[in-house]
Amino acid sequence: MPSFFSYYFFLCCFLFLSRPNCFSARTIPDSAADAHNPTWHGFNRFLDAAKGSHVDGMSELKKYFHRFGYLPKPNTTMDNFTDIFDTQLESAVILYQTKLSLLVTGKLDSETITTIMSPRCGVSDSKSHSLHSVGRFSFFFGKPRWFRGSPMTLTYAFSQQKMIDYLSLSDIRTVFKRAFSRWAYVIPVNFIETRNYESADIRIGFYRGNHGDGKPFDGVLGVLAHAFSPENGRVHLDAAETWTVDFDRDKSKVAVDLESVATHEIGHVLGLAHSSVKKAVMYPSLSPRTKKVDLKIDDVEGVQELYGSNPNFKFSSLLQSRNFFNLALGLDSRLSKWNFSLSLLVFLILFLCT
Ligand SMILES: [Zn+2]
Ligand SMILES: [Zn+2]
Repeated sequence: MPSFFSYYFFLCCFLFLSRPNCFSARTIPDSAADAHNPTWHGFNRFLDAAKGSHVDGMSELKKYFHRFGYLPKPNTTMDNFTDIFDTQLESAVILYQTKLSLLVTGKLDSETITTIMSPRCGVSDSKSHSLHSVGRFSFFFGKPRWFRGSPMTLTYAFSQQKMIDYLSLSDIRTVFKRAFSRWAYVIPVNFIETRNYESADIRIGFYRGNHGDGKPFDGVLGVLAHAFSPENGRVHLDAAETWTVDFDRDKSKVAVDLESVATHEIGHVLGLAHSSVKKAVMYPSLSPRTKKVDLKIDDVEGVQELYGSNPNFKFSSLLQSRNFFNLALGLDSRLSKWNFSLSLLVFLILFLCT
């Protein structure tokens, strides 16, 4: 008969191994922290800061939260943010963690700091208007969309002057064609490339630093791109990024997948704001060397609420992809399955030994 001690030991093992992320190290992953001098790299010094902390440079983090819609302007007479982790910053952190589907702790824990340091889209999260109590897709205020004849056709063009020279125009055109086709597949909208940049509905270009729209780019990583709500049509990509169309060809640690960012920014052009679903194309951040081009159910439902469904589109075509629901909801069952298997193994060993 197994002793009481054996059962107790097994119970402890089971509970320990069943805890999610029980082996996760409290460090910032290399992909975010080790890239050479990326924007927001210094934020890792705020790790574990909580209300009451005073860390030099905390005002920079407050500017970050202000920029992306989580913190109002400072109300001090000096018109500057302080370096103190105050109640307002705690509220901003909670709002950020909620919007980005992180564990809501109100502290600058490892997951939160890693997400803050990740490269992201420059469109503010506050511009979104969510219809859902739990985070999902959202729209810009007023729910703007394009209005054209039916079936709707939108033209797009590339700026001849605002280009990058290390990728061929042919590669860039191919990538954008694929990105547009993903959206056209799910809504009754056609996208046609035109050479006439000035008259095109959607105008695409690569810009550096301050480029005249009040939303300056910031160099390597940080903000990757931004786009404007309907019917503006401008898509701006940060020319300072190492844009790539093929990670096998480009080994840079800070390489950013052009197709993933193009697909995301087209979502903005159509009227989608940021989603809280981590796996959705419209989630605001994207790590370097990551490809994220397939629309998830969340993206599809959002854009179809604006334009209706393409008559040829069937949700079943999305469901055929493996674990689509789990991926769309941002759930990853691999870790829990692994933990369960290990727990079972420990149980069997104990059972056989007693
Ligand atoms: Zn965005
Ligand atoms: Zn711009």
